[in-house]
Amino acid sequence: RQPIVAIDGPSGAGKSTISKLLARRLGFAHIDTGAMYRCVALAALRRGIDAEDEVSLAELSLALRIEFRPVGDEQQVLLDGEDVSGAIRTPEVSLLTSRVSSVSEVRENLVELQRRMGEVGGVVLEGRDIGTVVFPQAQAKFFLTASARERGRRRYLELKGKGLDVDLETTIAEVEARDAADSTRQHSPLAQAPDAVLIDSTGLSIDQVVARMEAVVVA
Ligand code: C5P
Repeated sequence: RQPIVAIDGPSGAGKSTISKLLARRLGFAHIDTGAMYRCVALAALRRGIDAEDEVSLAELSLALRIEFRPVGDEQQVLLDGEDVSGAIRTPEVSLLTSRVSSVSEVRENLVELQRRMGEVGGVVLEGRDIGTVVFPQAQAKFFLTASARERGRRRYLELKGKGLDVDLETTIAEVEARDAADSTRQHSPLAQAPDAVLIDSTGLSIDQVVARMEAVVVA
């Protein structure tokens, strides 16, 4: 059976780019668990479900059909058959996703779904709790991080590239606030698994990080 690769870490460490490239190099599937939490938030917004209504959020997380579909070099996120790859990345959805991902029943439902998607092996799963909760038995685990300043700077450049009017220091402060929220929440806080390989991507190129991970997986 092919291995399960877990990549966890805070936002802005480069998880998505690196997971995608590593999966491609290994010929593995790529499961972006953050996109799954984002799908629940998007559906809640569209249906007008109140952010405090945990029962409805939990029901919603069970009822949705979330899939990943490879299209060329990219991967689409499908929500009940609709391509929502762009729609789940708006600031409004990001904000609600933090709330949605703090609801324990939502987490239980999505973790269950992630296990079903990944148990066949030959997968790279990226998230916050893959190596600790979803697949503690994963054959290769990484905790990918970078300094808050570096992650804030990357996010700032990304937003600026999209033509948005942003401020560097504000963006760094937002990254730090999200770190604090992710690591202090009650359910499945962001944490490094004891047996995860720590990679600090500050000062490393994307290729260097991917190569380092690939060496661990094939070892
Ligand atoms: O990685 P991404 O930024 O898309 O994740 C969106 C949100 O979903 C984050 O705020 C994070 O806290 C949450 N999340 C989570 N557990 C995961 C993946 C993401 O709580 N496994």
